[in-house]
Amino acid sequence: MNCPPPARDPRYDRQIPLIGEEGQEKLSKATVAIVGLGGLGSITSQYLAAAGIGELIIINANTVEENNLNRQLLYDAASIGLPKAPLAARRLKSLNPCIRVEWRQARISDDNIGELIPSADLILDCLDNWKTRLVLDRYSRRTGIPLLHAAVEGYYGQVYLSVPGRTACLECIAPSNLNVKRKIPVLGASVGIVASLQALIAIRYLVGDYRDEGTLILVDGRRPGIDKINIDPNACKCTRA
Ligand SMILES: [Zn+2]
Repeated sequence: MNCPPPARDPRYDRQIPLIGEEGQEKLSKATVAIVGLGGLGSITSQYLAAAGIGELIIINANTVEENNLNRQLLYDAASIGLPKAPLAARRLKSLNPCIRVEWRQARISDDNIGELIPSADLILDCLDNWKTRLVLDRYSRRTGIPLLHAAVEGYYGQVYLSVPGRTACLECIAPSNLNVKRKIPVLGASVGIVASLQALIAIRYLVGDYRDEGTLILVDGRRPGIDKINIDPNACKCTRA
């Protein structure tokens, strides 16, 4: 594959007027880890690949199930039973052959996260459970790598960028009961809104154009509407993990 310099790649013609050639260069030098390749990760990973993020590290332990297909648009009927991470990597590479995609078929924990994500400019939480989200949060605080959280339930969703040392951490906005295990009802289109917002914030953060870090963004697909809540960084007593 012959890849032109990012700032001159026609693939990015329609976004360079918004983020500048310099912004495009920044994206091409960035490494983003995407943890979770379900409904959220399916969408964010495709937008980030298409936007020209230089390196994606994608992590997921599961195989594709039929009940994933109402929202997990990286996969199709032929994917059922196959592991998500390598499938996703192939799809993302075919979407944009000029980026690097590293895949890991693994369940993330405090013990292995350092190996799975040795370094990154940003970690995306595309998970569906708080226990593992807090693994990412602790790693983020330990390493200083910013963590961009997203979550969806029903018609609702939220996005929050935590930057260690500057904002409250993710634990500060976590629900009190972390062990809820139930089937979360969700419409694919509401995951799409939240995932697209997460991808948009990731891109704007990486080009240095995002000012709402530490602000919890709430998406209500029923009204529809978006609300913002500032989370006081001084209220975060979690400090460095
Ligand atoms: Zn905190």
